[in-house]
Amino acid sequence: PFITRFAPSPTGGLHLGNVRTAILNHLLARQSGGKFLLRLEDTDQERSTFAAEAAILWSMSWLGLVPDEPVRHQSLRLHLYRHAVDGLVAQDRAYPCFCTDAELEQDRKEAAARNLPPRYSGRCARMARDERAERLNRGDAHAIRFRLPEKPEVSFKDLVKGQITLPAGAFGDFVLLRSNGWPSYNLAVVVDDADMGVNLVLRGEDHLTNTARQILLYEALGLTAPAFAHHGLLMDTDGKKLSKRSGALSIPECMEMGLEPLAVVQYLASLSGALPTKNLFASLDEMARAFNPFALGRGNAVMSLDELTALSARVFRAADPADQIRQLDETLPAENAWHEFDPQVRLHLLASLRENAANMHELRALLPLFTEKEARFTSGALTELAESLPVLAALDQAMSAHSPDSRLEKDAAGAVLRKTGEEAGAKGRKLYHPIRLALTGSENGPELATLLTLLPAGLIRERVQTVLN
Ligand code: GLU
Repeated sequence: PFITRFAPSPTGGLHLGNVRTAILNHLLARQSGGKFLLRLEDTDQERSTFAAEAAILWSMSWLGLVPDEPVRHQSLRLHLYRHAVDGLVAQDRAYPCFCTDAELEQDRKEAAARNLPPRYSGRCARMARDERAERLNRGDAHAIRFRLPEKPEVSFKDLVKGQITLPAGAFGDFVLLRSNGWPSYNLAVVVDDADMGVNLVLRGEDHLTNTARQILLYEALGLTAPAFAHHGLLMDTDGKKLSKRSGALSIPECMEMGLEPLAVVQYLASLSGALPTKNLFASLDEMARAFNPFALGRGNAVMSLDELTALSARVFRAADPADQIRQLDETLPAENAWHEFDPQVRLHLLASLRENAANMHELRALLPLFTEKEARFTSGALTELAESLPVLAALDQAMSAHSPDSRLEKDAAGAVLRKTGEEAGAKGRKLYHPIRLALTGSENGPELATLLTLLPAGLIRERVQTVLN
């Protein structure tokens, strides 16, 4: 079983690009009967905010990506990092670095001028023991750096990409602990992944060189490294980095667009090739069972907002109607006529409305048709109606046989339409279109025969009479 984790930094909310990493980790853990953990990497004190943290937690729960253990905050675990670093310093695998920002900046400039990579010069690595002791005694500000082992390269087997080898010397001695006592990303990740029992780290390929650094740290700390896997990055259809139209969409924006969370999860997982899009799934657990980790592609994933929206509409129409009814029950204002409909009518209404809507927002926009006394007419509709008064008069007449509170059965609705047509001498579009307009004010909506069974007979007559008068 895989123990996986998602480790966002609360310096911003989640968007489709980084949430895909969370989704893959979640499905991998569930598929293998393992655990999915969540850790907030809030060690950048200047850029981490509670607002971002709240947005991340909210987004995760909206998507159903519930972690199996309480969320960890790195800011509450500083003692662990300090402890690990003390051990490394005692073994001379790490050393204090007193270089000032200005000195480091100067080094970087000189390296750039000579076209060298911007790595640490090693100045404090070579400091004499006495000088080091004296400066520590004096309380001089210092960071702690990792002393890179003499090793030409770091090699590991990536579960997605295969064997990977990176030159170790390229990094330079990197910082483990900043002068303010807070850990660097690489130190905190290693200490935490080991402490949390994470045995598979799956993240974007932009972290490949970090993985090499982290493997060296695991060795130095005498810890067993987890397995690693790196997925390609999410791209726009034009092959560029993500734009607002697709991958850079935030999760709250997805919600505002009416996208179904299950569709977001399925779509992003399917882009990696590890989940089909043909069939729909009723839950994340069902999805996890169909998830095939061995099919995770190595390349970048190209995302199209149109495809996501289309999948979302399919998920929306296949969802459990009881859930959607409950959503409306809970969110429509108390005075809305929806609450007066009996359960059978609500079910019937929902089933027919969602055939004409791609998401809950569109469905809500259709609701006033049934919950408000008067239809809302466009001016085009009014002109057309003025020419179809005989049809409406015939409909009013045919409906008068039904009691105002009743709703027509399918057969009765068919009979009313037939009778109206005969009486007014109209058929086809000339018959159906004015009736639709009079009842709904709009060209689109549920099928006419269905509409006649959904609206109470009294309301049908009222709307028709409004036009007639
Ligand atoms: N906090 C890091 C990030 O958001 C986590 C990377 C990792 O998974 O190790 O990029």
